[in-house]
Amino acid sequence: MVFILLYLSGTVTCNVVQIHTVADAGTRAAKLSLINLIPIFLGGGYEFGARLLGTSLYTYGFVHRSFAVVAVLEAIVHIIIVAQIRVISWSNELQFYGLLAASMFLALVLLPLVKKRVYEVFLITHLGCAMALIYAIWQHTRSAHERLWAFPVTYISIFAITGALQLVRIFYRNMVIGRNPVRLILRPYVGDVARITLLLPRPWTVRAGERINLGVPHVGIFYLAQSHPFAISWWEDDGRGRAVSISVLFRPRSGFTRKLLDRVEPNRECGAWIDGPFGPTRVNWSSASTVGDYGHIFMVATGIGIAAQLPYIKELLDGHNKAQVCTQRISLVWQLDRVGDWESARDWLQVLVRQDNGYMLHVSVYDQLRSDSGNEIQRIGENGLIEVHSGRVNWEKQLDAEIESRIGKLLSLLGFKFGTISGT
Ligand SMILES: Cc1cc2nc3c(=O)[nH]c(=O)nc-3n(C[C@H](O)[C@H](O)[C@H](O)COP(=O)(O)OP(=O)(O)OC[C@H]3O[C@@H](n4cnc5c(N)ncnc54)[C@H](O)[C@@H]3O)c2cc1C
Repeated sequence: MVFILLYLSGTVTCNVVQIHTVADAGTRAAKLSLINLIPIFLGGGYEFGARLLGTSLYTYGFVHRSFAVVAVLEAIVHIIIVAQIRVISWSNELQFYGLLAASMFLALVLLPLVKKRVYEVFLITHLGCAMALIYAIWQHTRSAHERLWAFPVTYISIFAITGALQLVRIFYRNMVIGRNPVRLILRPYVGDVARITLLLPRPWTVRAGERINLGVPHVGIFYLAQSHPFAISWWEDDGRGRAVSISVLFRPRSGFTRKLLDRVEPNRECGAWIDGPFGPTRVNWSSASTVGDYGHIFMVATGIGIAAQLPYIKELLDGHNKAQVCTQRISLVWQLDRVGDWESARDWLQVLVRQDNGYMLHVSVYDQLRSDSGNEIQRIGENGLIEVHSGRVNWEKQLDAEIESRIGKLLSLLGFKFGTISGT
């Protein structure tokens, strides 16, 4: 909030300081628009940009949009002022490129409206419009006295350098001389849920909350360069704490994920590539504390949202064995939504229960599809530590019970559908 206020007041000050004529104000607005465009040309998408700047995905998205909005507003001020002092015409070359830049600004503002519906079309057109904008600005500014053409050159340079860095990172992650590149194994379950395991040529230490972008060229020609984000829900390590394979859970939607399930042969290795890891998601926006700093963790998940919680449990149990965390109790309440939810994560849950030497993990599963046998609780897993209830969870009651039996600071982690995580 403070940053935004400082940024906005600083920008407005720059708009008025030492401005003597209306024409000056128009030129100043144009320059401010050009300056504000600089940070939004980091290549590689939100995830890579956030990683480069060391911010969360949310913060990066917010900063990207804020600079873009101010750049557009300044451009609007510039256009309004120019329209006051001269006649704007498409036939004038300078003005033609100015109007082209304005059209690209407009397109870039409107495009996010279709983002949810056609994500890939959004990505390509967003990039296309951004490139057209650079070209239009280049043509519009190249005859100016003040070397304003340096701005489009800067945008292209930033975009090219960050894009190249991302490419290098992808090669580094996927290729190791003398080893197979990343391989993918698809394991479908009943109820349209599937698990993907990726065999990694270059192990890394996975942290809970990390995500990867996954590309599977085998899915089809249009998907060669496409990648989609998935939360890492499990990993197997090499005995030295570095993951040799990672797994993700997914329920197919209508595009890439549906084709992946339809076109990749189950339980056979096939080629894939990953970009990442990205994250992890921060536990608390207002402080730098980690999950292990809390005495009591209350985790709730519905459906395959469990994929986002398992890594935290795995990491906490590991940290507990090494006496690295303060956590003394983990309560996981998992509401099964659909057929296949249970099967997709059952074996991982059982591994975790076995790993829990300190008996700090309490798992309650609510299965609304289970035929009700008099509200009988079924106990499964090591020492019957996983309680399976029939029906739906009463979230309010669960939260009250956790607050009542609280041990130290309580943190709640929410995982719905596919991996939204937040803390309170
Ligand atoms: C940080 C993050 C982590 C995720 N983790 C998981 C996970 O662990 N398991 C899981 O099942 N799903 C996960 N998702 C969602 C998953 O990435 C999308 O469901 C998938 O990309 C849909 O691809 P599609 O072509 O089949 O979707 P479509 O049917 O074309 O679209 C369905 C929805 O997915 C969104 N979407 C499509 N492509 C992308 C993309 N490249 N990036 C972001 N969103 C997209 C669209 O906006 C749309 O709302 C995650 C998403 C994000 C942002």
